[in-house]
Amino acid sequence: MGSRNIAHRGSLHAWLAAAALFAFLMIFTEGEALAGAEGDPPFSDTAGTVFDIIQKGDPTAFVCLDASGRGERQIWDKRVDGEPVVNAYLFHARFSDGTNIEVAVNPEFGSREAAEKEASRYTAALGQLPTSLRRGINRVSVHEGRKSFHAGTGQIVFYAGTATERESYNHLEESIFHEAVHASWDAEHRLVPAWVKAQRDDGGFLTSYASRSPDREDLSETALFAFAILYHPDRLPPADTEATLKAVPNRIAYIRGLLPPDKPLFVDDGPPQGCAAKSVD
Ligand SMILES: [Zn+2]
Repeated sequence: MGSRNIAHRGSLHAWLAAAALFAFLMIFTEGEALAGAEGDPPFSDTAGTVFDIIQKGDPTAFVCLDASGRGERQIWDKRVDGEPVVNAYLFHARFSDGTNIEVAVNPEFGSREAAEKEASRYTAALGQLPTSLRRGINRVSVHEGRKSFHAGTGQIVFYAGTATERESYNHLEESIFHEAVHASWDAEHRLVPAWVKAQRDDGGFLTSYASRSPDREDLSETALFAFAILYHPDRLPPADTEATLKAVPNRIAYIRGLLPPDKPLFVDDGPPQGCAAKSVD
């Protein structure tokens, strides 16, 4: 009987945890880009900018993908506005800096081969992230469809149709960077006093999307431009670099502390695992 009570309490806890996760994932759901800027910010949103900040030929820490069979995973799905459990095709993406990301592909892709092909669309770009943005991602999930990507702490959810659309203008890498900030940095940085002070000292915003959601989207939106200025200054036109530094200098300085340009992008996070361990020998 005691165990029954515990089980009951356990399910209440599970329900509360699910409710909390639901609220959290909803928080980081991307809004659709609105047409037209709202005055002050120099850009509308990073998803819509044309800058190719992270390019296909850039170094990637991605090494290989281990297939891990099938497994039940609860994955938020905007198409059904819920978080169903699916018997996902599972993989582990292995990176040379020792980081690992589980990739859960919706069974709707139909076969392990198709799921692996889909998983492989994201892995090189995940490997192009700085280690500090990759190590916080525990799982990425992929559905079909054209909903906008979303993320919560440790997790990113992709939609294959949207990925195809972003690839058509070389923007899948930039979108993954944006979601990685939600997954890896938001919990620790988006509400801390130093960041809030930087927001206040700057006054304005870099993008209209950030200005509409200062507590949710500002860090992700600003981080991509900061990354460009710090690591690839030639990929942002001088006028746009100037506009960025003028609009959000304190926030660029804050992000510089997270991504010191004199340090390598990939830092040792432990020994490479799985297929990556074998390939190193
Ligand atoms: Zn976002």
